[in-house]
Amino acid sequence: MNEGINSTMLGLPPIPSIAEDLIVSRDIMVSEYTGGKIHIAHISTKKSIEMVREAKKKGLRVTAEVAPHHFTLTDDAVKTYDTNTKMNPPLRTQEDLDEVYRGLKDDTIDCISSDHAPHSLEEKEAEFEHAPNGIIGLETQVGLALTELLHKKVLTLEKLIEKMAINPRKILNIPVPKFEIGQNADFTVLDIDEIWTVDLSKSKSKSKNSPFDKKLLTGKAVAVVNKRKMFYQDKFIKL
Ligand SMILES: [Zn+2]
Repeated sequence: MNEGINSTMLGLPPIPSIAEDLIVSRDIMVSEYTGGKIHIAHISTKKSIEMVREAKKKGLRVTAEVAPHHFTLTDDAVKTYDTNTKMNPPLRTQEDLDEVYRGLKDDTIDCISSDHAPHSLEEKEAEFEHAPNGIIGLETQVGLALTELLHKKVLTLEKLIEKMAINPRKILNIPVPKFEIGQNADFTVLDIDEIWTVDLSKSKSKSKNSPFDKKLLTGKAVAVVNKRKMFYQDKFIKL
């Protein structure tokens, strides 16, 4: 877990934020030296975000991504010793979360992605120190982003879609789907005001390792159209 007052109180071996900051700093320097592109995945510390902001100001080809748990939870969540709060990088502090919001607002952070990491119940039911890192995220990422970022006015809907669906494709040079005659229309339908409760017992994933069970969310992906197949809530419709 994150190094700080909570790790001291809980007696868990800590990971200081400098562990992340050093690698981000090194990689930005390598990018500056080589002129190459670098993408920082799962950014989580205040200082790392500040370094990416400075690198972008210098015109370096640096992009960054944040996972939903790093804008939703702090290391206070670890107080339960729930191994579903164990991830890498670890959950950080409110100060770090505030910088994540700033970074999302000023486009220092380009992307939001699920960091989906399924683990079986047996693996996660170990002591905190021995449990594997990571949580599932595919079914909660849209709801968490709409609840924490759109409805709390961190991002507009346009910006949120850009960070979840458009920027990742741009960074990976994958074409952004367009509505065009003769082309398959691939898209997701969002109900931004649907209020729902996460229920892991109904999750489609084989793994249930999520700290968001029973969390009340506002906003949901209600349908997906992909490769001429449509999934609407629980129904599957072939087009
Ligand atoms: Zn990951």
